[in-house]
Amino acid sequence: MTIAQTAEYWRNQAEALKFEGRLFIDGDFAPAKSGAVFESINPANGGVIAEVSRGDADDIDRAVASGQKAYKSGIWARMPPRQRMAVLLRFADLIEAHAGEFAMIDTIDMGKPISEMLTVDVPLAVLCFRFTGECIDKVQGSVGATSPDVLSYVLRQPLGVVGCIVPWNYPLLMTAWKIAPALAAGNSVVLKPAEQSPLSAVLLARLFIEAGGPAGVLNVVNGFGPEAGKALALHPDVEKIAFTGSVEIGKLMMVYSGQSNLKKVSTECGGKSPHVIMADAANLETAATWAAMGIFGNQGEVCCAGSRILVQKKILDEFVDIFRTKATTGYVPGDPLDPSTSMGPMVDVSQQKRVLNYIDIGKQAGARCILGGDAPSGLERGAFVAPTIFTGVDNTMTIAREEIFGPVASIIAFDDYGEAVRIANDTSFGLAAGIWTSDLGTAHRFARDVEAGMVYINSYMNGDMQFPFGGWKQSGNGRDKCMDALLSYTQTKSVWATIE
Ligand code: ADP
Repeated sequence: MTIAQTAEYWRNQAEALKFEGRLFIDGDFAPAKSGAVFESINPANGGVIAEVSRGDADDIDRAVASGQKAYKSGIWARMPPRQRMAVLLRFADLIEAHAGEFAMIDTIDMGKPISEMLTVDVPLAVLCFRFTGECIDKVQGSVGATSPDVLSYVLRQPLGVVGCIVPWNYPLLMTAWKIAPALAAGNSVVLKPAEQSPLSAVLLARLFIEAGGPAGVLNVVNGFGPEAGKALALHPDVEKIAFTGSVEIGKLMMVYSGQSNLKKVSTECGGKSPHVIMADAANLETAATWAAMGIFGNQGEVCCAGSRILVQKKILDEFVDIFRTKATTGYVPGDPLDPSTSMGPMVDVSQQKRVLNYIDIGKQAGARCILGGDAPSGLERGAFVAPTIFTGVDNTMTIAREEIFGPVASIIAFDDYGEAVRIANDTSFGLAAGIWTSDLGTAHRFARDVEAGMVYINSYMNGDMQFPFGGWKQSGNGRDKCMDALLSYTQTKSVWATIE
């Protein structure tokens, strides 16, 4: 098939898709108790995709009760580890078998290019369930070195009902990062997807049952943050909230925990990550390619986006030229269902306005907009923003301090390594950081000095399931992926047995 034919294929498939907009509670679809619904909108053209049940505190109560019933029955929590593993591995196979459906749903629900869904989101979500499933029988307790007439050991057990509150930028993948370890550890889950991207979670819940997951173990309550999300985070029978989203709401999660049952809270709250280009970088073309991917990939709606690009003055002009070319040729907004499209719209019109407002703030502050800076013409039906580059940015400017969550790169010049690190760390965030240099000493000094949870040397946003994902400072306190993530959904129990 030619690219045009493939685009036509996806458009026809998407047209024919039937969406399930109800909640998923206790193993079955259910409308919200109130009967309320909200519309899910395709941000590429403003069309209504589906009516989605608008869950509220009553629905959260039902979902948590169902999760707790399943948990207390032991049907999942006490299932022999390898059986639980088999369910998660079948679940991964089913997600893979439905790759096209997931790709279309998230693409038309939140706007990301279908090519990204097929090459990034879906395969990484499948990998997440496989990796986490395979970890299940590797979780071990320990035996203490106590006196000979004592046997003291530490058990690891699930927490109970876990609430997962996820964002819209990678609807399927961020959900996988939360629910896979929560389920693998034997917990029941109540998932609250973002209201901007509610649809793939419901398919996920149905497939969990098809994979042999017991009813009540994975529940989905769609709805708005201050209604369904808040009710979940305040619920006295929820033992943990696993959250990814903004700093503002992440902080609220901790408040809700204190106001209710002191539930555990893990947060992943975005960033303003520095991506440093030293003059001795081996290949500026490669560095610019990755720097462009780091801020324009997924429309810049990425928590670990390298949104502050720090460039050594000696190579500033040369780098900026190459970087602008990479942005212009590599990231062209268009129909996200077309497999040749590299950049979709913002998730919705309000996010588009928010990003355009930041661009205005940057211009007013005196930064130089050398590319984009507006909504691209010809795409007015959608919530598009053109890839935008600012040069002459000072790290004190709002566009260098606040997370924009859009395709806006701020280029900041520096003289030497010391200044680069100072600027890199001059932020309230600490999620990711990158450096391009051919000097091993500089590279590892940076890895030591930078205040970030993830550091990339001569690459950006790489990693695999063993690589802990999470931040320092106000980027949050949790870690996704990796074995530690799975352990964070367990609790220890110390047992002291006297041997007579
Ligand atoms: P963004 O600004 O990227 O949309 P948010 O932090 O607002 O990120 O949203 C992330 C998730 O948190 C979404 O699922 C959203 O519905 C939820 N959320 C928003 N506000 C609240 C709240 N007050 N209580 C609980 N969840 C919330």
